[in-house]
Amino acid sequence: MHDIIVIGGGPAGMTAALYAKRAGKSVLLIEKNTFGGQITWSHKVENYPAISSLSGLEWGDQMFSQIEALGVEYELDEVTSITKKDDLFTLTTAFGAIYEAKAIILATGAKPKRLGLEGEEDYIGCGISFCAVCDGEFYRQKDVAIIGGGNTALGEALYLADICRSVTLIVRRDSYRADLPLVDAISKRDNIRQVMSARVSALHGQETLSGVTLTYADGKSELMALDGLFIAIGHSPENELFSGLIALTEDGYANADETCATITPGVFVAGDCRQKQVRQLTTAVSDGTISALAACRYIDHL
Ligand code: NAP
Repeated sequence: MHDIIVIGGGPAGMTAALYAKRAGKSVLLIEKNTFGGQITWSHKVENYPAISSLSGLEWGDQMFSQIEALGVEYELDEVTSITKKDDLFTLTTAFGAIYEAKAIILATGAKPKRLGLEGEEDYIGCGISFCAVCDGEFYRQKDVAIIGGGNTALGEALYLADICRSVTLIVRRDSYRADLPLVDAISKRDNIRQVMSARVSALHGQETLSGVTLTYADGKSELMALDGLFIAIGHSPENELFSGLIALTEDGYANADETCATITPGVFVAGDCRQKQVRQLTTAVSDGTISALAACRYIDHL
């Protein structure tokens, strides 16, 4: 039995664990993949106050060391069910564990969106990747493309430009969604080609991806040979498991009030899986803080 179980070990979940533990609660943090979550994919974090520059991996490692040193309990496992009876939550996991808690904080983040093209799932790991930091090295001195016009796509393009022979940035509109400093940096790189108002409409290759069809806004198409394709078109929340427990938006994001409380007493939500306007590292840790303190208050009034 724990006071609080946090599901998801990204920046929001780890911050929630930090604050709840420091407030004297017993805390269990359950993460199914990597402590640090999506931030570990970021080449550089340069917009976190008081940190000029740090890799996402370092940020995640330092945060994890901090909560580990504090005595937060943690498990690498996947939560498969949550039930609530009276004021007690029971969680079961893929490894068959059963945990109980007085409050839970959902911080499950979001997963990379797919293009929805034929063969896409089969090419993942065989030419398609969602993470330049993880897979960029496989494409050293090769030709890659990256789809997306947001901060993720441009950040990844810059990272890949240091490794790959050429990087083609494919953007579906005629303008970027990314921040200006990134757009400026992209335009200064000789080996980054910017292809605007274009979509990848088909994937080609035997077992490994070897090219794509590019279709432009005017309807014209061309074949483009490449060694790797990075998809950075945003994320969708991983909230399916909670659909019977809390209210979700049409897009699957968790609804919560400004204290990160959901409609179900004792269930709080933090980070990218929550319905909100801005999804940044800073807002994830903000949610983590707010949800943990709200969960502590909730427990104290049980
Ligand atoms: P995003 O900002 O939502 O951008 C997604 C990009 O993919 C947009 O250019 C979008 O085009 C395009 N797109 C969406 N669906 C597409 C499709 N089916 N085919 C082709 N293109 C498609 O996503 P993100 O870049 O992952 O960023 C998510 C959030 O994290 C943002 O708030 C971002 O600021 C934040 N972030 C911050 C940092 C940082 O501060 N350093 C780093 C990474 C991410 P449209 O513009 O036409 O919709």
